[in-house]
Amino acid sequence: MEDCIFCKIIRGEIPSEKIYEDDEVLAFLDLGQVTKGHTLIIPKKHVRNVFDLPPETAAEIFRRVPKIAGALKEAFPLEGLNVINNNEEVASQTVFHYHVHLIPRYSKNKDDFGFKWKDNSNTYSAEDFKARAEAIKAHL
Ligand code: 5GP
Ligand code: ZN
Repeated sequence: MEDCIFCKIIRGEIPSEKIYEDDEVLAFLDLGQVTKGHTLIIPKKHVRNVFDLPPETAAEIFRRVPKIAGALKEAFPLEGLNVINNNEEVASQTVFHYHVHLIPRYSKNKDDFGFKWKDNSNTYSAEDFKARAEAIKAHL
């Protein structure tokens, strides 16, 4: 039995605000509420993160994302939504049971989620760019 906080939530050993549950997945409110309605979707099978995620489990999670995103949109006056998954400590993973964050976004700059996207397109050459693609493709 996994000594994992999300497995304990699945087993009902730790309370949670569940919003959706079926045989494969559980969705519940993130305690942190980065923004109002911040929700996590997790597989019921314990998997550390994306590097261990079976394709079928990925499909089980993501096929439910649109429905839950739609429910959030109906429930709150959101204007957008970030779908985020952190993998390993360097990428801000703190709970090592795979999870997808659904983070509602309200009016621009009017929610407190400091998510920034940096454009580095002026920092590499065309050759570097192609070499990066080739490096990845070599393993697919
Ligand atoms: P990560 O940083 O691993 O991507 O996200 C873990 C998330 O789990 C955090 O946003 C944190 O607020 C949430 N979290 C941690 N412990 C609990 C808990 O016991 N209950 C709930 N509902 N959320 C939790
Ligand atoms: Zn777990």
